[in-house]
Amino acid sequence: MKTEEVIKILEDNKITNVVKHKPKIIHTKKFSCADDHPIVWYIFDENNKAMCEYCSTHFVYEPKDFYDKAQEEKELLGMGLKDSIRQKEEREKKKFVNEILKGSG
Ligand SMILES: [Zn+2]
Repeated sequence: MKTEEVIKILEDNKITNVVKHKPKIIHTKKFSCADDHPIVWYIFDENNKAMCEYCSTHFVYEPKDFYDKAQEEKELLGMGLKDSIRQKEEREKKKFVNEILKGSG
């Protein structure tokens, strides 16, 4: 087989593309890609694999450890959780102030 023929087969099967774009390891379920194109956000599917529609970069999801997963879940919960924490802190603060007032009274 001639070299040109091999190259043509590789190109037809987009094999050169795969070789060019090594899979990127991502540690969060949600990630962005902005490789020579406008920023796009993706979320990994159940196979923990994704491909950028713009630049054909492959992504592989690899959880770092349990702590990071917990952090990520917290981020996904977002403002709702932050608000509830803040409210709890304020309640605790008020309680604390009341205790001081009672003590000094
Ligand atoms: Zn991309």
